[in-house]
Amino acid sequence: MFLIKEDFWQVMATKEKGLGIFCKKEIKAGIIIGDYLGKVIKTARYNLENDKKGLYLMYLTDQASIYPNLKKPGIHLLNHSCTPNCWIYTFRGHTLFFALIKIKPGEELTISYLLSPKDETCKNCPHDCKCESKFCTGTMHLSKLRYEKWQNFQNKKKRKTKTPKVIFGKNLPKFAVYPNTIPLDPIYNKLRGGHRSNPI
Ligand SMILES: [Zn+2]
Ligand SMILES: [Zn+2]
Repeated sequence: MFLIKEDFWQVMATKEKGLGIFCKKEIKAGIIIGDYLGKVIKTARYNLENDKKGLYLMYLTDQASIYPNLKKPGIHLLNHSCTPNCWIYTFRGHTLFFALIKIKPGEELTISYLLSPKDETCKNCPHDCKCESKFCTGTMHLSKLRYEKWQNFQNKKKRKTKTPKVIFGKNLPKFAVYPNTIPLDPIYNKLRGGHRSNPI
């Protein structure tokens, strides 16, 4: 679900990555783009061969994932980039996407899928990256070092946030009120000056 108005974004076809979300009106750094909503499913029961090889699944708990409504445009359409202009923020157990830097009209909104390091569990790895960033690593999998940095940061955050109630088969309900921007955190700060590198 988008939390920015429709005049800020549009769905457009990309060259190699299928559909994507593009900026229509300038989005300031820190602005919350949307909440990753959808049906709560058991991750273990999901067939990873389905739609985009499971890349639409969003982590909720160690057993549960969010499966978005693919018939409606939503923030699940943000493509992966090695130097994304959006990042994720956990708010009361929900995954919000926010703008990491100022995003200008015409730019594609991108996020890191934060995939765990590549190992033998990813058979015939379908996660080659085509983000066209000059810092592209060629894969959506993070290196061990970067993944650990991110996990440590997330785990610290997790201890401070509530986990939402998990009811399998039901849609994760949206909150009545959302913040407009994310609180400042040192890990994001260095990006706010328009520096396009990764926070991790
Ligand atoms: Zn892979
Ligand atoms: Zn890339």
